[in-house]
Amino acid sequence: MLFTSLGLSDPILKAITETGYTKPTPIQSKAIPLVLEGKDVLAAAQTGTGKTAGFTLPLLERMVQAQKATTVNKGQPKRHIRALILTPTRELAAQIAENVDMYAKYLPYKSAVIFGGVNINRQITTLKQGVDILIATAGRLLDLASQKMVDLSKVEILVLDEADRMLDMGFIHDMKKVVKLIPKNRQTLLFSATFSKEIKALASGFQTNPSLVEVAAQNKTADSIAQLVHPVDKNKKKELLYKLISEGEWHQVLVFTRTKHGANKLCEYLEQQGINSAAIHGNKSQGARTKALANFKANEIRVLVATDIAARGIDIDMLPHVVNFELPNVPEDYVHRIGRTGRAGREGEAVSLVCVDENDYLRGIERLISQKIKKVVVKGFEVDPSIKAEPINQGGGRGRRSGGGQKSSGNRNNGNGTKKNSDATTGEKKRSNSRNRSRSRNKARSS
Ligand code: AMP
Repeated sequence: MLFTSLGLSDPILKAITETGYTKPTPIQSKAIPLVLEGKDVLAAAQTGTGKTAGFTLPLLERMVQAQKATTVNKGQPKRHIRALILTPTRELAAQIAENVDMYAKYLPYKSAVIFGGVNINRQITTLKQGVDILIATAGRLLDLASQKMVDLSKVEILVLDEADRMLDMGFIHDMKKVVKLIPKNRQTLLFSATFSKEIKALASGFQTNPSLVEVAAQNKTADSIAQLVHPVDKNKKKELLYKLISEGEWHQVLVFTRTKHGANKLCEYLEQQGINSAAIHGNKSQGARTKALANFKANEIRVLVATDIAARGIDIDMLPHVVNFELPNVPEDYVHRIGRTGRAGREGEAVSLVCVDENDYLRGIERLISQKIKKVVVKGFEVDPSIKAEPINQGGGRGRRSGGGQKSSGNRNNGNGTKKNSDATTGEKKRSNSRNRSRSRNKARSS
């Protein structure tokens, strides 16, 4: 199938051509026609499948078509929010905004992205200037709505992206509040990594007769990702990682650790070995995170060490290597982590360094993905059988749902612990330092 056969208009096709995409990904081929028909769509698609374009392209087309009708009838209408894209995290919001800007390059729409932790006045100014497409996290959006600074009463299309994450992060009430502010006769697109019971229940409250779209089997990892486990003793992991990177001549490696402290320590070690590295996690300012990511994308940094939440929504084209320096304690996070590589059908490699303490985690992951991951012992890094498994330190806070180290006891970091203000209308991005916030799980909000 070609993009030209999907029914998208020329300005959108021109923008797609400029991205270099040659054909739609499976989620795009399936979702775009349904959205163009005006249907509510419930889609199970993981990050890396091209889902952002899967909802953004037809959303833009729907706006073009609807506008043609109004313009003919009533002349040029005043700018108002016509599409709302709700996301769990700031990083994802900013990334979607970049995509929207890219795909809407030849359309007259203004988009803006809003999320919490930064001066609200700037966002109010942007909103007052008029916005057609708003990308937002729920908390700040509700703050703005309660101040009557954002009007959602004319939204035609609502997208709930990574709805499973929003549920997971305790945003259910915020989502419901946002949806109440939007007209009932809207089109609602709901994207989630999986069709869980909870997601189906959510969809039935928000959608009318949704068409189901599924591209990868539930919790299956993308075929294009080669997965490998290197069993290794905990105290040898650093050296093994260094060996893999240096001898393998890996030039762009995303490494996951469970804790912020672990990320910092590993980063320091790699730097000492002469490997350019940076760490991103909840204690880093948004400015530092953005800079690290930009440098990583530009190949100025060879290794980016990240915790799960910090890495949410990171989109790097053709990321060749993902390393689980430590396995996540939640099996689903493994799928999310390795989804960073092999994106949109490209080849990628995901390597996990697994010590004896993590064998239970590994079994949980293998159960989830219904697949045994190949194990290869690296010469010189054989496991010492006399070392017994020990309980794993989660880096503060117990039983964290999405990788350790970012939750204080009894509370949950909402993934937006650092602050960022990005105004996609002007392309201007303001960064400010942040303090890390933990909020009660039930009250967790996206601002
Ligand atoms: P997403 O799942 O939306 O995070 O997209 C994953 C990656 O796939 C991004 O880097 C997109 O730029 C890229 N992508 C989206 N659609 C296509 C396509 N049709 N062909 C090639 N790459 C694509």
